[in-house]
Amino acid sequence: MAVLIGCLLLTGCSKPRTIEDVEEEMRSLPATYLTAETGKEISAPSNKGVFVDEETGELCFPAYMCTNPDCPGEKQGDRPFLFIHRRMLLEAGPNGEVIYNEIPEGKDPTKYITSRGGFMNPTCPACYKKRNPDSESAAEKQKYIKWAKPYEAPEVVQRRAELEEEFQALYKPK
Ligand SMILES: [Zn+2]
Repeated sequence: MAVLIGCLLLTGCSKPRTIEDVEEEMRSLPATYLTAETGKEISAPSNKGVFVDEETGELCFPAYMCTNPDCPGEKQGDRPFLFIHRRMLLEAGPNGEVIYNEIPEGKDPTKYITSRGGFMNPTCPACYKKRNPDSESAAEKQKYIKWAKPYEAPEVVQRRAELEEEFQALYKPK
């Protein structure tokens, strides 16, 4: 009886999961976000996109990790250094909304973004402090671009792999 009640309380316990259920969980797996100013870490669904943190009023962006083996950024245990790719055209509105600004007419996008302290590609700020971008070769620049990767917590990577398996088991080609 106890088992039966437990089952009734858990939604989805009585019927097997569908492929749509699995896809929905994949889309909304928790992602690591960092606030733009203070770097506060927040876990939110990966399909949430950029949002405003209620507590600090700061914009939150998905975390990237620096995989440069010589990255001078501060690491937490085994975890690589995390940073964000800040979108300079976005702003936090007074009511917790995200404001999308446009590049002013006639301005060069790259110059406009970099003059405001932004980057065109995800760029590790810790490595950047030690670089001389003006004298770097194209190959060197490319190396840094490749070292910046979207970050997923190990438990999310594991869950995603399990979901892939579940998806494959349910997938029936038409
Ligand atoms: Zn780095």
